[in-house]
Amino acid sequence: MSPDRPVVVVVGGGIAGLAAAWELTGGAAGPRPGSPSVVLLEAGARFGGKLATVELCGGPVEAGPDGFLARRPEAAELCREVGLGDDLVPVGASGAAVWARGRRRRLPDGLVLGVPTKLLPIARSGILSLGGTLRLASDLVVPRPDTRGPLGDRSIGPLVSRKLGHQVVDRLVDPLVGGIHAGGVEDASVAAVFPVLLTAAQERSSFMRALRRTSAQASQATEGPLFWALRGGLGSLAARLAERLAERDADVRLAQPVEAMDRVAAGWLLRTKEGEQPADGVVLATPAGPAAALLAPHDPQAAGMLRALDYASVAVVTLAFAQEALPDDLFGTGLLVPRKTPVPRQVADAAALSRGEPFLVTACTYLWAKWPHLERPGVRLLRVFVGRSGDTRHQSMSDADLVRRVAHELTALVGSTGEPLDAVVTRWDDALPQYRVHHPLRVASIEASVRRLGAVAVAGAAYHGIGIPACIANGRTAAKEVLAQLAGAPAPSTA
Ligand SMILES: Cc1cc2nc3c(=O)[nH]c(=O)nc-3n(C[C@H](O)[C@H](O)[C@H](O)COP(=O)(O)OP(=O)(O)OC[C@H]3O[C@@H](n4cnc5c(N)ncnc54)[C@H](O)[C@@H]3O)c2cc1C
Repeated sequence: MSPDRPVVVVVGGGIAGLAAAWELTGGAAGPRPGSPSVVLLEAGARFGGKLATVELCGGPVEAGPDGFLARRPEAAELCREVGLGDDLVPVGASGAAVWARGRRRRLPDGLVLGVPTKLLPIARSGILSLGGTLRLASDLVVPRPDTRGPLGDRSIGPLVSRKLGHQVVDRLVDPLVGGIHAGGVEDASVAAVFPVLLTAAQERSSFMRALRRTSAQASQATEGPLFWALRGGLGSLAARLAERLAERDADVRLAQPVEAMDRVAAGWLLRTKEGEQPADGVVLATPAGPAAALLAPHDPQAAGMLRALDYASVAVVTLAFAQEALPDDLFGTGLLVPRKTPVPRQVADAAALSRGEPFLVTACTYLWAKWPHLERPGVRLLRVFVGRSGDTRHQSMSDADLVRRVAHELTALVGSTGEPLDAVVTRWDDALPQYRVHHPLRVASIEASVRRLGAVAVAGAAYHGIGIPACIANGRTAAKEVLAQLAGAPAPSTA
């Protein structure tokens, strides 16, 4: 460790760790005199973590995330900083459908993450039964204001259910919000996942009207596409970051799982199978479990809170169908399937499923419509999600069984005919952190506790948002915190 050039080690080469390393090497401006020497240790055989691009039918398809929200600028900015600005591709379609009351129905206008802000479009959509629509309408005449004073955190499901009825939760909010985290909204934190609901819930008027006002203010600043993808796949962002880091003399290493972190003098010693890496500062950009294991000897309180964070397991099945095997009337970017929706009897019988067996598919993306750069002549690519918190049926199925089962379900869901031409299955076990009620408080305690260790910070999907822009922002903030600690300055506030 050189006295004039501290060493900072980033553990984990997912997007949060790569963004942290990028920031440590000077970010957009590049290294400055006195910038730390940066080492990035990644356990796996490639950089990117959940960002993973694979081949199907002669071209790249995403095995993990397929795009990122444009409303937050951090991901597009990072792409531009590393020279991938020209590869940004805007989303090619808008709108989606939900499977409700036995068929696909278009999601109507006026939804904010599945919560209706207008009555008529939802009444016309046919998604809710007559009873469900009347229950929703009652919000306009007899709103149910909160009487408990200023709201702390609470769960999304019960809050919306009390205001607008359980059908809104089951058929709209759970598929949309729950789909993002592969969790359920029954115990998902409003403050962490959907904070605008807290503001709306405190107003004494109709919840729908309050949410319409609040979200209109929020969306005034939004221009341009809703989502971006990268022409060469999101894996190309990870690969480019690793390349650019190496050009900046950062030592980026694969296949280096960090097994322990020991205190030495004023710094740290990180142990891998291959040896020891000294560090003045550390950014832990792994999922919560590995971070807990590394922190446990030094900060049992933070380690305990990290261990309590649970993760959902999902699989992504991408299928190629002949163009004529899919109908032309598929609307928007895809289809959501509410939890516990039974597979229709005819399809269940054909696939030898027991009657009432729920769909395994939770959502399906029409890749040719959502991302025009993924159009292939004569072929249509469908990306299907299976699995969520509380539904691990896919984990006991082989890849071949999974593809067969998904293909059966698609005959009902999207009207596909015939077998898929090709398919690729990617399993993501314990991949999506569940933000349960009081998540923001837990994260604040973890960060405060870790800060007491000195130049150590945590970053990644476990903390301030699971989306790519949020992970990038969090990685960069963690890097700034460590730099500030090394310089003896107060740390910036977390993102
Ligand atoms: C199927 C799926 C679809 C998604 N879709 C979207 C989407 O469309 N848009 C969006 O914005 N987000 C999406 N997300 C979420 C987003 O991809 C992730 O939240 C984000 O990529 C997580 O980044 P990360 O760096 O925090 O963690 P990870 O990507 O998990 O990276 C952590 C890294 O740490 C490494 N590691 C672990 N332990 C050690 C150790 N001891 N030593 C060294 N290295 C270690 C791991 O190997 C891994 O590479 C999706 C996620 C999944 C799983």
